[in-house]
Amino acid sequence: MWDEKQLMVDIALKKKTVCENAGLVETCDMVFLYVPQKKFCDECMKTILEERKEHRNRKQREYRKKNYEKVRAIERRSVWRKREKINAKALARYHANKEK
Ligand SMILES: [Zn+2]
Repeated sequence: MWDEKQLMVDIALKKKTVCENAGLVETCDMVFLYVPQKKFCDECMKTILEERKEHRNRKQREYRKKNYEKVRAIERRSVWRKREKINAKALARYHANKEK
């Protein structure tokens, strides 16, 4: 285990960092080597990123449910645009074959 006193010195000297994840997901007292901007240990960072992703997905699903018609309209439009491209390609191929 860490020597408490040495740890305090290391933290003061910015050689080590204590994970800031206290009460966020779970209280964590991981200590890791100091890296600028790094506030959480790898395990907590993974959890935080996963939660953020899950949160975003959930928001997206909720938005879709609430604005179903709007979302569908956007999707239809994008499908339409794709189809135009496909049609243009098919037409080009058709002309190319005709010239043979
Ligand atoms: Zn942590």
